[in-house]
Amino acid sequence: MNLSVSSLRRIKILLLITLGVLVMGLILPEQPMIPVQGATKNDWNRDSFWHYPWGKSVVHKGIDVFAPIGTPVISSSYGLVIYTGTLEIGGNAVAVLGPGWRVHYYSHLHTIDTRRFRLVETGELLGTVGKSGNAAKRPPHLHYTIISLLPRLWRWDSSRQGWKKIFILNPADYLPKKNKIKKATGDKSNA
Ligand SMILES: [Zn+2]
Repeated sequence: MNLSVSSLRRIKILLLITLGVLVMGLILPEQPMIPVQGATKNDWNRDSFWHYPWGKSVVHKGIDVFAPIGTPVISSSYGLVIYTGTLEIGGNAVAVLGPGWRVHYYSHLHTIDTRRFRLVETGELLGTVGKSGNAAKRPPHLHYTIISLLPRLWRWDSSRQGWKKIFILNPADYLPKKNKIKKATGDKSNA
């Protein structure tokens, strides 16, 4: 009896380790993409992250990638779509839970072209650039924020609302200067 219980435990531990390795394998090759098709780092202002003052938000907790209305917004990472909907400030918005417990938030969309609980690949279409929410009077752009669900205490600094940097990451630290390929994934028949 005791033996079988301990060997069962051993099998469970082995399974967990295998799963852990598999998950690590998924996490390691992560290659983020700029979430607007055809955009480069010149399409956002690198000083716009944490810019103050920024209306109701006080500081700008993300970057704005400027592009014409209707330009495809693509997922910067693989992950699970955890939110699609319309918000007062964000307008049409999508949130994707990606690797490393990071949530990628896309807002001011013109159209939403994905569904909640869909597993998306890096580069997969989420929607299109627009000016919904409080962006109506500004040129069309994608507002993009990365939120870490795991607190990063060392990121806390003395800027205004600097403690929130524990959770809100600067996308510019993650994104490449330009996307190597236009679209990482194959054709999506339903996209
Ligand atoms: Zn913004």
